[in-house]
Amino acid sequence: MDNDEKKQEDFISTVSHELRTPLTSIRGFAQTMLSSWEVLNDDDKKKFIQIIEQQSNRLINLVENMLSVNKLQSFRDKFIYKSANANTLIEPIVQIIKHQYRNHSFEIDFNKKIPQILIDVDKFQQIMTNLIENAAKYSNEGTKITVKTDFSDSPDFVSIKITDEGIGIKPEDFEKIFAKFSRIDNPLTRKVQGSGLGLYITKALIKKMNGDVNLKSSENGTTFEILLPVENVENQAKKRYGSREA
Ligand code: ADP
Repeated sequence: MDNDEKKQEDFISTVSHELRTPLTSIRGFAQTMLSSWEVLNDDDKKKFIQIIEQQSNRLINLVENMLSVNKLQSFRDKFIYKSANANTLIEPIVQIIKHQYRNHSFEIDFNKKIPQILIDVDKFQQIMTNLIENAAKYSNEGTKITVKTDFSDSPDFVSIKITDEGIGIKPEDFEKIFAKFSRIDNPLTRKVQGSGLGLYITKALIKKMNGDVNLKSSENGTTFEILLPVENVENQAKKRYGSREA
């Protein structure tokens, strides 16, 4: 088997597994409700429908992630650059995720003086959602997640840091986590769902927007720092004449 065939086989087996698990669960709960409707109480029914909703969301996320990967690879992905304020965009994203992870605490630490950045707003939202959700997924309930914006060491970039108090990532896995379909085995990754596509997409989108991502981690938690270009004359020109390829 050549390398491409091996990759294709791995891909099909990962995707089939990722699709089968939620589909089996959706079918199982729907069948139980249909066959036992009269004996189930309202609380049980509600619980089952919630599981069906969660598992459907998992499928939608997987399909959206796979479409993103496909677009990224075929260079069909169009970036619409706009000048935006990172703080204004991040705030509602944190509010939504806070709602989903009610047992974590979320702290916002915004520097109100940061300059405007030059980004594609949809892609920026996708990046922030991935990183903040990961911070919650890979840390225990009751811990804190901080989202901090600030100037960076370079005047050309704004810094956004997402810090969790979670399980951490070992230095030898730093590169691996950004690879397609790669997940690091540990008790929390076994418990939480994921396709291993999020960070691959996140990094590719950041690079395409001429930004960068740094990672610091220990057993006490992890910080992902993303650097995104400020809106200035030079970056305006990049916007007009196309961005660097990832
Ligand atoms: P997914 O979350 O779908 O598994 P990602 O590409 O977003 O995929 O992440 C890849 C892997 O990196 C995760 O499976 C997890 O092992 C690790 N990881 C990501 N974010 C964190 C984090 N904040 N803390 C610890 N591990 C993380």
